[in-house]
Amino acid sequence: MNLNRQQLRTRHHELIKEMRRIGPWIEGTVVSTERICGTSSCGCHGNEPKHPAMFITGTNLGKTVCLYVPRKLESQVREWAKNYKLLKGLIRALSEVQKQIVRLRD
Ligand SMILES: [Zn+2]
Repeated sequence: MNLNRQQLRTRHHELIKEMRRIGPWIEGTVVSTERICGTSSCGCHGNEPKHPAMFITGTNLGKTVCLYVPRKLESQVREWAKNYKLLKGLIRALSEVQKQIVRLRD
């Protein structure tokens, strides 16, 4: 898709507008798992089901980081992680627009 300079400028503004509409975001992958709680008398220490737990994992300065997400924040964190993916897509799209501007040369 080759756009002229004006069309690219318009596309740039559209993408920036979309970026502004994105809510809070969080970098990382949402992982749903199970955990054993801190109460030693709890059934999860025996044969009973363990507690569902959510983590957000990712790398920070080359180190794998795993952050526990409290239950009450789970749906919000899922939303934030989704927003991060949307934002990344927009960053890539915006970069493509700039590359096309470079290709126009003059
Ligand atoms: Zn337990």
